[in-house]
Amino acid sequence: MPTAIEIFKHLPKKNCGECKNPTCLAFAMQLANNKAKLEDCPYVSDAGKAALSASSAPPIRLVKIGSNSRAFEVGDETELYRHEKKFFHPTRYCVEVDDSMSDADIESTIISYNKMKFERVGQIMSLDMIGVRYVSNDPARFAKAVSVASGSTEMPLLVFCHDPAAMKDAVKPIAARRPLVHGADSNNFAEMSAVAKELALPLVVYEDKGLNELADLVAKVKASGVEDIVLDFDPANLKDLLERSTLVRRLSVKRTFRGLGYPILVQAQGDDALQYGLIATMKYGSIVSFDKLKPEHALPLFVLRQNIFTDPQVPIQVKPDLYPVNNPDEKAPIMFTTNFSLTYFTVLADAEKSKIPVWLQVVDTEGLSVLTAYAAGKLTADGVNKALEKSGAKTKSKTGTIIVPGMVARMAAKLQETTGLKAIVGPKESSGLPKFLKGL
Ligand code: SF4
Repeated sequence: MPTAIEIFKHLPKKNCGECKNPTCLAFAMQLANNKAKLEDCPYVSDAGKAALSASSAPPIRLVKIGSNSRAFEVGDETELYRHEKKFFHPTRYCVEVDDSMSDADIESTIISYNKMKFERVGQIMSLDMIGVRYVSNDPARFAKAVSVASGSTEMPLLVFCHDPAAMKDAVKPIAARRPLVHGADSNNFAEMSAVAKELALPLVVYEDKGLNELADLVAKVKASGVEDIVLDFDPANLKDLLERSTLVRRLSVKRTFRGLGYPILVQAQGDDALQYGLIATMKYGSIVSFDKLKPEHALPLFVLRQNIFTDPQVPIQVKPDLYPVNNPDEKAPIMFTTNFSLTYFTVLADAEKSKIPVWLQVVDTEGLSVLTAYAAGKLTADGVNKALEKSGAKTKSKTGTIIVPGMVARMAAKLQETTGLKAIVGPKESSGLPKFLKGL
């Protein structure tokens, strides 16, 4: 890994600041610490790019899987802990079928997985991948099963087969969909790497003996010309999964050890599958492949993933607008809240519970909750009035009243003066809304 000074020698030394660093030296220091990307400077010469390619490569390679609108990327992480910056690419969940199943069973199983979706704080949470396993020992049957699976979903495929010839027959017709191929092991890596290279597919490198052996195998696969690699170290138990995943991430991002700088795939099978999935989501698993997954197990996994992979510095927001609740008309009052997603959905749910029609005005507070936004000067009478005028709320509700969240009762007088509406102080907690609205 070059030092900042070595990197600096290859930079243009214009000190123009376009890379969001005041000087080229400051940029070199960021690059040396994996805090910036070489592409952030538009003036690096081709010779400079070639010289710096190693130092500017992400500590964990970015691997793209799939080719359509459901394609995704894994890897390219730079942190051990989310609060240091953020995690960039969420864990992806795969559920498997195998070629011992009939075509009809494969199709109906995959269709049920296509439909497994949940909505939380305005985001749709769903599965990402379908896995197909070779268990029949019949290459023709396997190729048919992969074809049926491919025709049953838009999700990318993960194809498990350790016979290179059978793998090639199965994935060649669907190579344009860029499935992930599992995989290369110590016995078949030369032939399997040749298949992945010829069809330009990402390849899982599988080794259960230890990380040293895995790194050796990765080096051989890489030397054969395959760059898009995913690691599978087949942990013996949950403790092993936690320890090896942590070691791989630490070596990659803290020591810039590129021999293991690839996304991790975890196979979550059998009775402990959910526990494997939870640990892999928390600690550095890029893809988790389940033998099966019930909706009641998928939901907590999806929620955990959503919580871990949101940017801690950017609150989840909803669009500032006027939202009708319980079919309001002009006799319905206006209430308002902020565009922090969690606040909005909590208020919405409690207002809906009341069955009383209201107009809910969402005010742009840059994603802050009510009290925080008020304290930060982001929720003001003037801001609320501007939001009401933009959305036309005062023409949609003719009651001449506006309900103020109880937490910010102190803005009622100013709000009344600014909006010309009678301000009524609502409950401090949104859980009090049903009783409050019914009593209006
Ligand atoms: Fe230097 Fe390039 Fe940054 Fe400009 S954009 S300051 S030339 S590193």
